[in-house]
Order: sequence, then structure tokens, then C-alpha cells
Amino acid sequence: MNEAQLAAESRLEKHQAEAEEAEPKKAGEQASSGHSHARIEKPKTLLGKVLSVGAFPFALTAVFCGYFYALEKGYNLAVSITVLAFLNLVFVMFLEKILPHTYRWKIRWQALKTDILHVVFSDRINYLVFELLLGGVLLWISLKVSELFNYALWPSQWPLLLQLPLTCLVAEFFHYWWHRASHEFEWIWKFHATHHSSEHMYFLAAARFHPFDNLMAHAVQMFPLVALGVPKETLALYMLFVSVQGPFGHGNVSIRLGPLNYLFAVAEVHRWHHSQNLQDANSNYGGGIIFWDLVFGTFNLPKDREHQPDDLGLVDMPRFPQNYVGQLASPFRWGKLTKDDPEGGKYHGRRR
Ligand SMILES: [Zn+2]
Ligand SMILES: [Zn+2]
Repeated sequence: MNEAQLAAESRLEKHQAEAEEAEPKKAGEQASSGHSHARIEKPKTLLGKVLSVGAFPFALTAVFCGYFYALEKGYNLAVSITVLAFLNLVFVMFLEKILPHTYRWKIRWQALKTDILHVVFSDRINYLVFELLLGGVLLWISLKVSELFNYALWPSQWPLLLQLPLTCLVAEFFHYWWHRASHEFEWIWKFHATHHSSEHMYFLAAARFHPFDNLMAHAVQMFPLVALGVPKETLALYMLFVSVQGPFGHGNVSIRLGPLNYLFAVAEVHRWHHSQNLQDANSNYGGGIIFWDLVFGTFNLPKDREHQPDDLGLVDMPRFPQNYVGQLASPFRWGKLTKDDPEGGKYHGRRR
């Protein structure tokens, strides 16, 4: 090999080394600026257009009809809402196949496995803890509050469909502040980070919650409702509404709700909350409805609708586990998980 060849080879090696060095920097820049956008799909057929506008209102109407049918027949409420929520989930899975928002968000086996375990174990643990520990306390408080106000605090005589918006307003107010606090206080964020660890939106991403986060969010909403004396039929209807919204809020579906985006926290609105761009993400805290975000000035629905958030998930936390057990332990291993971040986990509270 002559001198010229040697020099060329050494230049090539240098160039490759620089390229390798530059690559992670580029990826990091992209992640923190959050300006990478997913190529979004548009409905191509008439059926697609109809579904993108009508799928969510249709699903909501269908499960509500199913619920009223179950009430009339005297079926078990918990079983009925579980079956209806499952049918809704299957519907969203089907919509993801025929009407995806973007092809870049592919369902990964690791994420699916983790989220199935969240559904099977975390939800079950939550239910038991809630029933055993909080259930009795809730009933006691409810009784005391009702006695105090002479049993006339909640308009139980109203039709269920009129009680539902009122239930949403009360429950979502507490949900809003709990959710917002979990982004602004480090100790709560350590638990809520699990929900934001999904790198793609898909039908089961709504199930990914640390059990403590889930339990607290549930308790924070249910305490006031039970204390106000909301009847169990209304509570079940509200829970059904939230379980329809979950997969629609996180699904990779090309949903176009138009003005209804100012009412419901479905994917068009909620996916911004999962963006890695913190200015976009510190918004849209609503779970089922978006009303309190509009009131408290955190509603975010960018005008340029062609650009959608693509970099989803946690910012600068490459060590955050993607497996179920790792996620359960994550709040207690926070120091280890954030040790790569020179600012010591500056994004922990996802502050602006
Ligand atoms: Zn959040
Ligand atoms: Zn979410």
C-alpha cells in the first residue's frame, strides 16, 4: 500500500469515526427539539372518511346502548362494562388495521407483552386494593357527607345521560390536577413516567400505568364522586365512558373529530401529551374530556394539523425499562435510571 492509499484510508477512518460520533448527537438534538414529525395517513376511501369522523361517536353510542340494555335486563354491572369495554378495544384494534394514523408506529411484541401484563396484574391489584382499603373508607365518607347535607347533594333523580356530564366535570377536575401534579412534582412523576414510556401510540398504550399511579388517579376521581353520593349506575356509566376513551385516546387511528376535539380527549388531542417536545407535552391533561384544559389554559391542538408528534416517550432516559417488572421497580431505581443525564434527570417533572 502506497502513501496516498494510506492517507486516504486514514481519512476514511477519521470520517467514519466523526460520523459515528455525530449520529447520537443528531438523534439527541432531534429528540429534545421534538421537531420530527410522523408521516400521517389520510383516509383514502369513502368508508375511511366516514369512519375517521364517525367511529368514536358510533362506538360511544353503541356501548351506551349496550349498557342501557344490560341495565334493563338486570345484568351484573361490572361484567357488563368489562364486556363492552373489551368490544370497544377490539373495534379500535380493527380501526388501527384499516385506518392507521401512521405506518411508522408499529406494534412491538415487547410493548404488547408489557402492556398485557399491566392489564392482567396491575389492574387486578388495583381493583383489590381499592376494594379492600379504599372501598370501605369511601362508603363511610359518602355516608357522612350525605348525612351532613341531608341526602340531597347529588341529583340522582336526573336521567343517567344527564348525570354523566356532571360526573365527568367533577371527576375530571380532580383527575386534571392529579395528572398535572404528576408532571410537576418529581416524586409523582417517577410513577407517572411509566405511562409515558410508550414509544408509539396503539390501542393498549392506555393500559400502561404504574399500579400506584393508577390507584391514586382512580381514588382521586372516585372519592369526590362517592362522597357526593353518585349512584353506582352513574359511576359505572362514567367508568364505561373512560374505558371507551382510553383506546381511542391512545390508538394509532386516523380519527378526525373536528369541533368535538374541544370536548373529548381522543387521540388527535391526547397524542400531543405524549410528545417528547415538552412544550407540546405539558398540556392536554384531561382523561375523558378536555374541558379543564380549556379552563386552565393547557389545551394544545396545533393549527398545522399536517404535522404530528412522532418522537413519543420519555426524554433522555435510555435506561428506562421496557419490561413489566422493570417498570414496577422504576420509581425506586430512579437514581440509576437517570444517571446518564448530566443534569440529573432534569426532565423528571417535564417542566416547560
Ligand atoms: Zn401524563
Ligand atoms: Zn396517555
